[in-house]
Amino acid sequence: MAGHKHHSHEEHSGVDLVDAARDALVASGEQWTDLRAEVFGELAHYASPASAYDIADGVSARRGKRIAPNSVYRILDLFVARNLAMRVESSNAYLANPHPGCLHDCIFLVCDECGEATHIDDDAVSRTVRALAEVADFQPDRPVIEIRGLCAACRPKG
Ligand SMILES: [Zn+2]
Ligand SMILES: [Zn+2]
Ligand SMILES: [Zn+2]
Repeated sequence: MAGHKHHSHEEHSGVDLVDAARDALVASGEQWTDLRAEVFGELAHYASPASAYDIADGVSARRGKRIAPNSVYRILDLFVARNLAMRVESSNAYLANPHPGCLHDCIFLVCDECGEATHIDDDAVSRTVRALAEVADFQPDRPVIEIRGLCAACRPKG
């Protein structure tokens, strides 16, 4: 993908993704607790963005014990802060970050019909957005770029 030629960008999935997430969290000085591992494992199951409630239900079912959505929110927010998860603002939902080892301002293509969010990275676009914010004397901590529309599967075939 554009903008990735200058660094070793790695995208992970499955067990490999869980390992990469654990390594990134530990490297940031945080502990990979059992609950955090379960929340990440649950999140990584979802192909489309999941709410904290979806994750809390899944973890509760697996543990056989009710986990409060608030605890899950806190963990998800930590994951977002440490680049292990991405928040899709317009859906108030989360996705596991397939590249926990490298930081990008991820761009989401969100389908209005099925809710599927496709994640793309383009550092040229995010550099431009950050530069524009700075020109307007605004400190761009976390640019959010989400494009709403229709995915290929939901589009009427012409
Ligand atoms: Zn990268
Ligand atoms: Zn990304
Ligand atoms: Zn769709």
